[in-house]
Amino acid sequence: MIEIRNLQKSFGSLNVFENINLTIEDGEIYGLVGKSGAGKSTLLRCINGLEFYSSGSILVDGLEVNSLDKNDLQKFRKDIAMIFQHFPMMGRKTVYDNIAFPMKCWKYDKKEIDERVKELAEIVGISHKLNKKPRVLSGGEKQRVAIARALTMKPKILLCDEATSALDPTTTQSILELLKEINEKLNITIIVVTHQMEVIRHICEKVSLMENGRIVTHGEVDKIFLNQSEEVKSFLGHDE
Ligand code: ADP
Ligand code: MG
Repeated sequence: MIEIRNLQKSFGSLNVFENINLTIEDGEIYGLVGKSGAGKSTLLRCINGLEFYSSGSILVDGLEVNSLDKNDLQKFRKDIAMIFQHFPMMGRKTVYDNIAFPMKCWKYDKKEIDERVKELAEIVGISHKLNKKPRVLSGGEKQRVAIARALTMKPKILLCDEATSALDPTTTQSILELLKEINEKLNITIIVVTHQMEVIRHICEKVSLMENGRIVTHGEVDKIFLNQSEEVKSFLGHDE
């Protein structure tokens, strides 16, 4: 689904990352972990075409992201949804309208919007809050709304950038379970970006550890924990 080769990116004289190689299969839940400033968010923004990369290649479902023109990029972004630590929501609108927003922008008809919003609200467990305003929701509920909204355009890929970092451990767990369910039920490839190894351990099959713009360790999560490299040990020391 995603194939990254020799990727390099700089902001002026700052080399954010170099020599990034990554293959993510269709239907996988892939973890990208690393300390703050490692380059994780920038890498995600390159994958969904929000940033240009300086050299190398990113193929998403066979398309070279840097080469997409404006029209193609708009369509491409429907296939890749993203959620964040603090997802921006429209405070004056109801949860229903917040979820419906992308479909309204794409001018779907009312009936289709209504069906999809209710279906997604059911999946993320927020049906009873559809008429509320975002401010009365808990952190976990807000993330459920963000996930529902991210799924309205039926994406193939969901990018999660520190999506559980502001949540307590129990709520984190429930959101991770939800992501797993979505991955299985809707066959959506998910990339989980986090500075917390525990998050990766809960739901990812494979992981890459990023440090100062390089991938220093990658592989199956179980194996990485079993035979901890110096890099992993050092990172886990930081994590705890
Ligand atoms: P992470 O998500 O792992 O914390 P980021 O991708 O946000 O890391 O940032 C990686 C590095 O790139 C940091 O040094 C950050 O300051 C720098 N950076 C990120 N975005 C920009 C930008 N738009 N302009 C200049 N430097 C940036
Ligand atoms: Mg980040």
